[in-house]
Amino acid sequence: MDTQVQVREIEELVANGRKDDAVRALSALSSVDIHDADFHRRLADLAEAAGHGPLLAYELNLAFRDDPSDVELLRRLAQVHNDAGRPERAVKCWRAVTERVPSDADAWEELGLLLTELGRDEDARDVFENALRATNDRRFKARVREAARSASATEDSADLPSDAVVARFVSIFGGREGVYARQYAGANGESGYTPVREPFTHDVAQRHLLGSHTVGIYPLRADNTVNFAAIDLDLTKPVVDRAGPDSPVWRTAMVRMLEYAGSIADAGAECGVHVYLEDSGFKGIHCWVFFATPLPGRFARLLTDALLERAGSPPHDVSVERFPKQAAIRLDALGNLIKLPMGIHRRSGRRSAWLDPQGVRIEDGAAHLLAIRRTEHDAVHAMLDTRFPRVHDDDGQDDGDGPPFDEARATAHTVEYRPETDFDLQTVLTRCATLRELVRKSEIDRHLSHEEALVLVHTVGHIPSGPQAVNAVLGRCPGVDPSMRMKSRLRGNPMSCPKIRAKIPHVTSLVPCDCQFDPGAGLYPTPILHIEHHDGPGPPDVQALRLEGIVQDFLRAHKSLHDAQHLYDTSAARLGEMLDAAGVDHFDTPLGKVRRIRDEAGAPNFQLEV
Ligand code: SF4
Repeated sequence: MDTQVQVREIEELVANGRKDDAVRALSALSSVDIHDADFHRRLADLAEAAGHGPLLAYELNLAFRDDPSDVELLRRLAQVHNDAGRPERAVKCWRAVTERVPSDADAWEELGLLLTELGRDEDARDVFENALRATNDRRFKARVREAARSASATEDSADLPSDAVVARFVSIFGGREGVYARQYAGANGESGYTPVREPFTHDVAQRHLLGSHTVGIYPLRADNTVNFAAIDLDLTKPVVDRAGPDSPVWRTAMVRMLEYAGSIADAGAECGVHVYLEDSGFKGIHCWVFFATPLPGRFARLLTDALLERAGSPPHDVSVERFPKQAAIRLDALGNLIKLPMGIHRRSGRRSAWLDPQGVRIEDGAAHLLAIRRTEHDAVHAMLDTRFPRVHDDDGQDDGDGPPFDEARATAHTVEYRPETDFDLQTVLTRCATLRELVRKSEIDRHLSHEEALVLVHTVGHIPSGPQAVNAVLGRCPGVDPSMRMKSRLRGNPMSCPKIRAKIPHVTSLVPCDCQFDPGAGLYPTPILHIEHHDGPGPPDVQALRLEGIVQDFLRAHKSLHDAQHLYDTSAARLGEMLDAAGVDHFDTPLGKVRRIRDEAGAPNFQLEV
């Protein structure tokens, strides 16, 4: 039957009050291929008259497809979605209206009020502030005040996460020092981030967990190490643009994504790498790995490569990003950020959630957070070894620190001062791997750079016996400017850990420079806090401290020996293979002639003839 005839019949049905028949006839009409906005407006009017919301929305969408300049269609759609209990879609429509007609104060107000109803007070406040700027309408001044009041009321009334949860959150997600990013939902419905040049503190994390703002972190720290790596899986743009979250296309793609995320977690589990899954709150899943101690960014990237390689190709409708995105960055750059879990996605309004291995949202996210297991470097390297058996070495990993403090030499430079009995000094050296490494360097290399000496002076120089201790170390290093020798103890603020990492990243990236201090002191971490926070019972036991330091050195030296042996074995095997393949017994290299020799038992070895 001719379409126009069908439409006239529907009009008659509506006019005669036969609404059910009209809806049946409208449903049977195939209108999608007709590109005529007026035609769809007419059908939309009929659907409205027949009282059928879904058909009304359907035809309004088609009308808007054919006449995107008709903002009135967007207003009607917003109303329809709102009436049908789809406020998020209504928000999207109102945003589109404000984008096209920024002077439309009513549309701004509808949008802001809708967000308020959804409990998104911070977003509502942003909208009212934008509305005030765009329209200069005074009604928005009061709206901004109201939204700000309810935002703080929401925060006050929400369940406060415990200090332990917040401290854990700050600890495992610590990234670039002195900065974090805040997510916002823009007027066009897209979300973005604004860098905030302040430390990621207990308070910032608490507000994120409460949902009053949403934080992103730049994973690479100033010394180019990371506390975590992540793989970000997202639906591709065509899926997001074409289908809404309730559509079968979206849901099917999410199921495929979840299966793929499970494969990544399984790949990690095979090598002892703990992978944690998180529904990011909108259109993706994050796969997180947390490290026991900071890992150089380049190894974190190799790890994400290895996980993806083992998991196989992602589904066609899933895009993949890795964090950190850079192996290293300049000090004046930040790299790319990633949104943190357990907060609210400002665009969707949904809270992100941890997922169990079956992809089910975990209700008690705080308990899950506290139970997270950090991955040891050994597991990372074991996984990398399976991928790069001949290339990967442990350069940049934790090395042995060597002996702690050479008492005999120190004594030679300080007649009465005895560092081995100095509780403050021993505490700092035992607890701060960076300062211990500097002391080791002075003892083994007999050299400290100007920056390294500065770090020593502006940390150890603050303890009561600081001048003697610093002078003992500097005295071993003939290259250090004698004017740096100390005459009296320094007062004021000792150098902070972030500043130390920025000054000597080549040292801090070699040691576990990742101490966690009491949240109350977290605003200003410095090695000297290790002394101030000693609150053990009874007088300080310096021998116990020294024993702790020696055990730490022993464990790290043991690891270094193991790593060195591994590097020696793999490189020797590779050299042997290359000589065999070439049918020769030596190579000429820029470093000299490498010759294979055999010991008395006939075992192969190599020597370098310079
Ligand atoms: S975090 Fe601070 S105290 Fe800990 S090793 Fe690094 S510089 Fe030392």
